[in-house]
Amino acid sequence: MRSSYHTVTIVYRKDMDMKIGILAVQGAFIEHEKMISSLGAECVELRKKEDITDNLDGLILPGGESTVQGKLLNELDMFDILRHKIKSGLPVMATCAGLILLSENLSNDDSRYFQTLPVTTRRNAYGRQLGSFKRNANIKGIGDFEMVFIRAPYIEKVSDDVEVLASVDNHITAVRYKNQLGLTFHPELADDTRLHQSFLSMIK
Ligand code: GLN
Repeated sequence: MRSSYHTVTIVYRKDMDMKIGILAVQGAFIEHEKMISSLGAECVELRKKEDITDNLDGLILPGGESTVQGKLLNELDMFDILRHKIKSGLPVMATCAGLILLSENLSNDDSRYFQTLPVTTRRNAYGRQLGSFKRNANIKGIGDFEMVFIRAPYIEKVSDDVEVLASVDNHITAVRYKNQLGLTFHPELADDTRLHQSFLSMIK
């Protein structure tokens, strides 16, 4: 009994060594922090350039307002260094506005941000009447998941090498491309840690 208990402890400590940077200039970052911490990884709030250190194992781009986040990333001089890290393979989980920041193209907006994810995304795609809603849908590799949409985008087009993980009413809501996990909804607001867990497992 004793020795197996110790084995479990060691595995848990290994998890604790994981450091996840969470962009914290605007938007729903606290909820991600709670989830990531509950899974045993350390969270670092990225509020300024100096917070983006070399020892980050992963990055979360939260929901919020992509225009505001994009503007702040530039003003705070955080944009280039984050883009470089994503391009160099740092695992990133992007939700809603975060996904808009990653998208190579936006179909209804002239702004462009990191452009590291080869998809075309439509901002505020559900219109005013459907500002906020929940739907259950299947996510590849995870199963049925409650998706919380808030003034959400959807993904209209993906390049061949992007894996589509989930769709709702024929609109793509989750994709994986190399080190990037892009979600149009807010998994941090569902009482379900499986997507965050699967993100942590993308980190070697
Ligand atoms: N509508 C926001 C945008 O365009 C995204 C909303 C969200 O992140 N929940 O940036």
